[in-house]
Amino acid sequence: MKRDTHLVILLLLVIGCSLASLTIWKVLASRERALEEVNVHSLNLTQALATYSEGIVRQSSLLLLGLVERLETEGSGPAQIERLRTLINHQQPLMPQLSGITIYDRHGHWLMSSNRPIPQGADSSDRAYFIHHRDDPSRETFIGPPIRSRSNDEWVITVSRRFNDDQGAFAGVVAVTLGVQNFLRLFGKLDVGQDGAIGLSYTDGTLLVRYPFREQDMGRNFSQSPIYAKYLLERSVGTASFTSSLDGVERLYAFRKSQKLPLITTVALGKHEALAAWRTEALLSAVVVASLLGLTGIIGWFLYRDIRRRTQIEEELRIAQQQLLGSNRQLELLAMKDALTALANRRCFDQTLATEARRSQRDGTSLALLMIDLDYFKLYNDSLGHVAGDACLQAVGKLLEDAVRRPSDLVARYGGEEFAVIMPDTDAAGAAVVAQLLVDRLRHEHLPHPSSPLARVSVSIGVAAGQGAQLDAVQSLIEAADQALYQAKAAGRNGFAAYRGEPSLEGRGHQPTDP
Ligand code: GH3
Ligand code: MG
Ligand code: MG
Repeated sequence: MKRDTHLVILLLLVIGCSLASLTIWKVLASRERALEEVNVHSLNLTQALATYSEGIVRQSSLLLLGLVERLETEGSGPAQIERLRTLINHQQPLMPQLSGITIYDRHGHWLMSSNRPIPQGADSSDRAYFIHHRDDPSRETFIGPPIRSRSNDEWVITVSRRFNDDQGAFAGVVAVTLGVQNFLRLFGKLDVGQDGAIGLSYTDGTLLVRYPFREQDMGRNFSQSPIYAKYLLERSVGTASFTSSLDGVERLYAFRKSQKLPLITTVALGKHEALAAWRTEALLSAVVVASLLGLTGIIGWFLYRDIRRRTQIEEELRIAQQQLLGSNRQLELLAMKDALTALANRRCFDQTLATEARRSQRDGTSLALLMIDLDYFKLYNDSLGHVAGDACLQAVGKLLEDAVRRPSDLVARYGGEEFAVIMPDTDAAGAAVVAQLLVDRLRHEHLPHPSSPLARVSVSIGVAAGQGAQLDAVQSLIEAADQALYQAKAAGRNGFAAYRGEPSLEGRGHQPTDP
C-alpha cells in the first residue's frame, strides 16, 4: 500500500513535469519562431527601403552626370546657366523627391538654384560637400551629411558632383538636395511600433535620416554602435539584438549595406513590443497548463488521501485480526486448562493421549498411562468442606506436576478428584517407578485427612502401558489403567497396581496404614 502511494506520487510528478517541460519547450520554441519572423520581416523591410533610397540617389546621380557634362562642355557662363535652368525646370517635376538643384562656382558662390532665387551673398564654400569636391579630384558622386537648408531651414541630404574647366581644374559643384521630410513621410507609413526606428546612414556611421525624427541625431556619427563596430564588419546583411546605449531599450535590428552605394539601411523593432503577441500566447498557455496541473494535483490529492485512508483501514483491520488471533490462542489455551488446578484439562488430555498414541505406534515406542484417584475424598469433603476439598485438589495437582519432571509427560485433571499422567516412550516398569514416586511424595507431603485411616491424603494409581496394536484403541489403554486403578483400590488404596497380569502392588504402597 505504501508502494501504491509512492507510485501515485511518482505518476503525478511525471505527469506534472512532462506537462510543464513540454509547455516550457513549446513556449520557448514559439518565442524563437516569433523572433525569427520579426527578423525576416525587418530584413525584407530593409531591402525595400534600400531599393527606394538607392533609386533616389541613383536618379540624382544620373541627373548630376548630365548637368556636369553640359557644364564642362558648354561652360558655366550666364547664358549656359539659364539654359540649364530651363532643362532642370523640365526634369525636376519628374523627381518629386528632389528638393532642389544648386550650382556653385569654384568659390562656393551660387550660380543657380532650381526652385528659388539666389539669396544675396550666398556662399556655400563652408559646406562639407563643397570642401570635399574642391579638395578631392575624384569625379564620383558624393553623398553629404544632412544639413539645414540655408534658404528654408529644412533638413536636407545633398548628392553632389564636381565639374572642371577646360584645363581640368576645379570649376564648381552641382548639388541635388533631397528633403529629409520626403524620406520621413515614407518611413512613417511603415509600422515599427513605439520603440522601433528606421535609419539611413552613410557607411562611416553618419546618420542621414532617422524615423522617428530626432533633431539631435541628425548627422551624428554612430560608428561606435555595435551595428557598425561589430556586425557590419562581419557581413553586409543581417540581424542583431542588443540594448541601445542611448535609451536602454532592447531592440531587434536588421541591417543592409548597399552593394553599389555607401549607404546602410537599418530597421529596428523594440524586442518587448515585437514579442507582445507571443507573450499573450505564452501567458494563455501558462494559465491553461497551470489549471491542468492544479486539477491533476487536486485529483492526485484525493487519490492519495483515498489510498492512505484505505491503508489505514487495512492496517487497523490487520491489527484487529492479530488481536483476534491472539485472543483465539488465549482462548485455546484456556480451553485446554483446568480452572481449579491449572493443569491440562480433560480435553487436552484426550487430544494429547490420541497424539501420543499415534506417535508411539509410528515410532514403535511404549506409551504409559497413570490413572490417579484420591482415596476417601468424599469423606474429606464431608469432614473439611468443599472449599478445603478444592484446596486439597490444588495441592495434590501441584505435587503431581512437580514430581513428573520429563517435559514430554503430561499431568492432567481427568475429572472430579481423578488425575492422569501420560508418559510417552515409557514402558510398564518405568511407569510403575513414577507411580511409586507419586505415592511416596504424597506420603512425604503428609496432607492431613482426618477421615482417612492413614490420617493423611493418599492416592491409588492404576498403571497401564501399551505398544503397537495395543494402542489402536486409545480407549482400551484408559480402561486398562482404570481396571488397574480399581485393583489398587481393592488392594487397600495408597498404592498402585499395574494392568498386565496380576496387579503388582508395592509392599508399602497398597497398605492402608503407613509403616
Ligand atoms: P475412594 O477412596 O473409593 O475413591 O473413595 P472416595 O470417597 O474418594 O470415592 P469417590 O472417588 O467416588 O469420591 C468422589 C468424591 O470426590 C465425590 C465428591 O465429593 C468429591 N469430589 C469430586 N470432585 C470434586 C471437586 O471438584 N471438589 C471437591 N471438593 N470434591 C470433589
Ligand atoms: Mg473417584
Ligand atoms: Mg476417590
